[in-house]
Amino acid sequence: SAKRLGRNHSQRFRPALDKQDNPQLALVSDLRAALISGDQLELHFQTQNEPSSGEIVGMEALLRWRHPQDGMISPGDFIPLAERHGLMTQLGAWVIEKACAQQSHWRNSAMPKLTIWVNISALQLFQGDLESQLASCLKRYQLTPSQIGLELTESVLLDERAGEMRPRLQGLRDQGFAIAIDDFGTGYSSLGYLKRLPVDKIKLDRAFIKELPHDQADAAIVKAVLAMAKGMGLEVIAEGVETKEQCQFLIDAGCKSVQGFYFSRPLPAVELEKRLVPEPLTHPAAP
Ligand code: C2E
Ligand code: MG
Ligand code: MG
Ligand code: MG
Repeated sequence: SAKRLGRNHSQRFRPALDKQDNPQLALVSDLRAALISGDQLELHFQTQNEPSSGEIVGMEALLRWRHPQDGMISPGDFIPLAERHGLMTQLGAWVIEKACAQQSHWRNSAMPKLTIWVNISALQLFQGDLESQLASCLKRYQLTPSQIGLELTESVLLDERAGEMRPRLQGLRDQGFAIAIDDFGTGYSSLGYLKRLPVDKIKLDRAFIKELPHDQADAAIVKAVLAMAKGMGLEVIAEGVETKEQCQFLIDAGCKSVQGFYFSRPLPAVELEKRLVPEPLTHPAAP
């Protein structure tokens, strides 16, 4: 009512969120609408590969927002916005639902059987009911936890609430989900926390891969992380592998999986299917 809007009745005649006045809030309101309609959001998939054979060993689901006016908006831009404005739990739930639906679709197709890794925001771990949400999705799509992996960024694990995090992660792991630390090496971490956290995999941040093989410090860091992870029984995946030289360095250093543009960019599900499943024969083969 006019009363609720206060004394300035003219507010009633202005658009609620004017793009020019506050582009951030306008974007939040657009995102809210996108979540309701669902048809501007997409999941893309990037393969994870064994570096020497190129064999695909997994894939990561990456969220995309196709804004009707502004075009593709990077998750790096809208995820922090969703987190700040109370939309992350809902957005995260959408991602989990879509990833499970896709996995279920692929399970009954000629697609190779691979774990889909999903990015999880800290807020989903703290605010949402992540465990029951995952359980409900697995049940509805008849999936097992081994078909979905969970990626958490390193900064999450360094949060002051990291103590609360441990039992939560342990719970998810007990359910059978594999857990990866994303962007490893970018936080202000002491390595001690690695020992305490129930994780399976380290995703070595792209920052350490970028200048390989020339940068001596990066080369040393990558080798050291690989050696440490081996000693701790953790898997390592190198992110952002773009060149043959980077890939060769990682093979020589004993890295068993890589992700990056060198093997594939993130692709819509149908594009990935076209690449991974050979064309069906259009004419029956001669007897
Ligand atoms: P991330 O989880 O570390 O994902 C990897 C990012 O690196 C992706 O960016 C991917 O497109 C990009 N990338 C992959 N290979 C290469 C490469 O060879 N070179 C370069 N330069 N980049 C490469 P994207 O898709 O823009 O996502 C950015 C970040 O947004 C993700 O980083 C993740 O933290 C977040 N994000 C994406 N989808 C979701 C989601 O569904 N939920 C949550 N909570 N966060 C998400
Ligand atoms: Mg990730
Ligand atoms: Mg990452
Ligand atoms: Mg990253």
